[in-house]
Amino acid sequence: MPQASAPKTKHIPLRRCVVCRESKAQTELIRFFQNEQSWQLDKKGKSGGRGAWLCQKESCHQEKSLRRFFRQDAARIKEELEQYLLKTRATSQESRARRIRVATGGMNV
Ligand SMILES: [Zn+2]
Repeated sequence: MPQASAPKTKHIPLRRCVVCRESKAQTELIRFFQNEQSWQLDKKGKSGGRGAWLCQKESCHQEKSLRRFFRQDAARIKEELEQYLLKTRATSQESRARRIRVATGGMNV
């Protein structure tokens, strides 16, 4: 992996989104890794193997965009991504979502 020429002021490694090709701080990106032949969302950010990074722009999360890089895994990646983002973002919205679920008939999955 070639090192991006990062500014010296901050010690945040830059990574490039595989879809839009923009370099961003690693902490803002979501990591994937390749396991056997398929791509997995790296929830811990530590799994080995070949890595890929995706930014948080919605335009980069469309299946069409994901397919450029993840190919046949794009649809599954999109679902994993959505669930992952829901979990990480929805801390404050969670109770509201649960109330809605109850109101709509409480479907048990
Ligand atoms: Zn992107």
